[in-house]
Amino acid sequence: MIVDMHCHLDLYPDPLVVGRQCKSHGIYALSVTTTPKAWHGTSRLASDNPRIRTALGLHPQLVHECYKELELFEALLPDAKYVGEIGLDGGKGFKEHLDIQIKIFRHILRSLEAAGGRLMSIHSRASAGAVLSELYECPGAGLPILHWFTGNKVELRRAIDQGCWFSVGPAMLATKRGQELIALMPKGRILPETDGPFARLNNKPLMPWESVHISSQIANLWCMRLFDVEIKLFENFNDLVKTLGFW
Ligand code: MN
Repeated sequence: MIVDMHCHLDLYPDPLVVGRQCKSHGIYALSVTTTPKAWHGTSRLASDNPRIRTALGLHPQLVHECYKELELFEALLPDAKYVGEIGLDGGKGFKEHLDIQIKIFRHILRSLEAAGGRLMSIHSRASAGAVLSELYECPGAGLPILHWFTGNKVELRRAIDQGCWFSVGPAMLATKRGQELIALMPKGRILPETDGPFARLNNKPLMPWESVHISSQIANLWCMRLFDVEIKLFENFNDLVKTLGFW
């Protein structure tokens, strides 16, 4: 079974073809949108495939340009069972917009809380501490999955203590730092992702079914057999689906 907990189906050059390929691979994917305006078009890519779920998002890197879409976000939220990507970005080129990002993220978390909580795929580049503080203030917002976590080890410990899950992909595993963080994550709270087509490997955008590449590297980190790692990742997804009531 292939799972990709964070990809951008609508941003591939030919989304319809990628959607069909996902179907033929039989993969389970969380297709996250970067703006509320993209919600309807992106949802249509999954209309004949219940294994693909669409998440309503407002990417922190776009918030300073698209904050007016917050109203649309609110209007669409009752129909959205999944939210992502949301969060903060304190990286180069975006940290000057952190004030508005925090305002919007906080507003979104309050809305999710009022709506009964959602599964959230969260962006926390160069802002893990601030993201965790916002989540801490809003425990009813739902289940946070920190995607492509790049915080430090103290922030990781805090994320674990706050109950966060993690989605990790081939691009994260390609770095030593990413591997060190993954080795410290609870084995039962890790899910595969690609972040394609943004994330690339060998100079090519990652395709959703390439999330499987993480298994062999995780097998090395965990000193486990490849087959057992695949089972473990499948069990994690199953826990999320069955026990936690998502999907
Ligand atoms: Mn992404």
